[in-house]
Amino acid sequence: MTTWSFSGSNGPEFWHLVVDTNGEPYSTCKYSQTQSPIDIPAASLATTNLTNVDFQYQTTDVKSTNLGYSIYGFNIQTDPNSQNQTATNQIVVNGTASELEQIHLHTPSEHRIDGKLFDGSMHFVHKDANGVYTFVAVLLQVGERNSNIATLIEHLPDSVLLENVPTFNFDITTLLPIESERATYRYTGSFTVPPCTENVKWIIMQTPLELSQDQLEVFQTLFDGNTRPTQPINDRIIQADNTPSI
Ligand SMILES: [Zn+2]
Repeated sequence: MTTWSFSGSNGPEFWHLVVDTNGEPYSTCKYSQTQSPIDIPAASLATTNLTNVDFQYQTTDVKSTNLGYSIYGFNIQTDPNSQNQTATNQIVVNGTASELEQIHLHTPSEHRIDGKLFDGSMHFVHKDANGVYTFVAVLLQVGERNSNIATLIEHLPDSVLLENVPTFNFDITTLLPIESERATYRYTGSFTVPPCTENVKWIIMQTPLELSQDQLEVFQTLFDGNTRPTQPINDRIIQADNTPSI
């Protein structure tokens, strides 16, 4: 098999049987010990005062991309070719800066907290100068309408476009929980899609962001169920903040 999906005979249980363009099977997905997502056993974790994540996100030119009914269906990319592109979007964790590459969505969420699956999650993909990835997950939960997510939806092309996607100015910080609610869980895991590459530093925001049922349904029409089941924690250590990130 050369293609994978989220269900059926090439679904997550069978990703190790699918081969990449070089004919190599995605073995890591099944046989490695530090895969993602996981079910975070929050209630049984000892909390510590972790070094804050410094979110250096800016108002910047982005594109809301309609990928159709594919892996993610939707993502947000900064536009490095834009003439207005002066800002760098990055996080700094323990002195290491990682640049934001793109943001994509999953419905429902991939990570669980104490068994609870959320309505969705946004994954903020960052890479540092050594090529090490840090993924920040913001969980989504149906509640109040979210005006910032409304802006992303407004700029989403109706049809699948990979080029000439309109750019617009957007404050990426508005997709995070407010500053006093940025406590996190952290652990080391993997990409949640093939090739399931490991040594990804995961930072899960403890406080979910709310969006309306209508807004969730917009994303669900682009894709629904792009969610890998949770993977064994094995002997990994999961850290939990006892303080908000301020
Ligand atoms: Zn993801």
